[in-house]
Amino acid sequence: YTPLAEIDPEVQNIIDKETWRQFSGLELIASENLTSRATMEANGSILTNKYSEGLPNARYYGGNEWIDELEVLCQKRALEAFHLAPAKWGVNVQPYSGSTANFAALTALLQPQDRLMGLGLPDGGHLTHGYYTAKKKMTASSIYFQSFPYGLDPATQLIDYEGLKKQARIFKPRLIICGASAYPRDWDYAALRAIADEHGAFLMADIAHTSGLVAAGELADPFEYCDVVTTTTHKTLRGPRAGLIFFRKDSDKAADLGKRVNDAVFPACQGGPHNNTIAGIATTLLQATQPTWKAYAQQVIANAKTLGDELVARGYKLQTSGTDNHLVLWDLRPLGLTGSKLEKLCDLVGITINKNAVSGDASAQVPGGIRLGTSALTSRDMMEADTKVVADFLHRAVQISLVLQKEAGSKLLKDFVRVAIKPEEGKVGYQQV
Ligand code: PLP
Repeated sequence: YTPLAEIDPEVQNIIDKETWRQFSGLELIASENLTSRATMEANGSILTNKYSEGLPNARYYGGNEWIDELEVLCQKRALEAFHLAPAKWGVNVQPYSGSTANFAALTALLQPQDRLMGLGLPDGGHLTHGYYTAKKKMTASSIYFQSFPYGLDPATQLIDYEGLKKQARIFKPRLIICGASAYPRDWDYAALRAIADEHGAFLMADIAHTSGLVAAGELADPFEYCDVVTTTTHKTLRGPRAGLIFFRKDSDKAADLGKRVNDAVFPACQGGPHNNTIAGIATTLLQATQPTWKAYAQQVIANAKTLGDELVARGYKLQTSGTDNHLVLWDLRPLGLTGSKLEKLCDLVGITINKNAVSGDASAQVPGGIRLGTSALTSRDMMEADTKVVADFLHRAVQISLVLQKEAGSKLLKDFVRVAIKPEEGKVGYQQV
């Protein structure tokens, strides 16, 4: 029972510094959020001590009476949060992360070397959706399966559903994956279902980024059309770091989807569940079923739209000129700036953003854009008026980057900013969401 600060002041010190960074700066990474104190308490609880391989009431270890109760509660809340009838949908709450949830889902749906299609990484897709380069298959989803990417329509920068339809007729996938890490618009799940049906293919949505907004009913509902839906729990959903896999019990493609998914998570891909994390997910899902959740999701979107509008009003270019969700993709190429330059400068002034490929980038290694998300700052009660101030900070960061690039040469940028704009160090208390 000796506290961390006494046992290990070194680690405590790192946690303190990171706490200061998170709360003194502006967190604009679209895949991050600030989870609630309640979720963190559950996540940091004694439940981490327990092994419970298997499923509720079918474990390989004794002593799981309360863990069974917890996992059943978490499953129930997951279905409630996404408005799913237990007769039609089931869920596995054990995946350690979004990537392991996706690989388990592929393991459940496909045989080795079966064919899948996902949105290409340079167009906003995720590594786990079959990404490979001309030089290398570096993801498990491309090493163990044959994958072929679909993309965006270069004219509209929206998903090219017609192109996907044509490519699918040649490639004949067994699985189509929709969902993205960097796509600011909503999805046409009915169109995707029709394409998948032509080939008797499964349709899987990875709503890792948008699940908090889907739960709030603020985006189109993938559950209406998909066989399997995966998500992380820590992005717009604002929970601990983990994953969920939802499976349709009445899929016309496979009657045994539930067993296939559960077997794929354990024993195929994972060992014992992280019960402390499952407790954190359960608490998060309770919060996502409260009336305040809808207001939060609406504010996240309103802030993203405001951020987009404010940047456009200052003459900047956005992919698709705006957003339907929590993120905007900012195309810096017309300014002659790279995403990494602006990311570095913003880091030095306490604004956390990430470089991101934008449609038409010559090289994925040198991304021409920035991805911005509003979930975390909205958790700190950012409203539209605050968002305008943030847009102004970003505008100033670009102006400084351009001057430095022109006048001083980019190698001097770091030192210049360190000297000129170093934020004051200080202490900040933990802010409860
Ligand atoms: N799926 C999508 C769409 C993502 O954006 C991410 C992460 O950014 C993942 C899956 C992987 O999640 P994790 O980092 O928890 O493995």
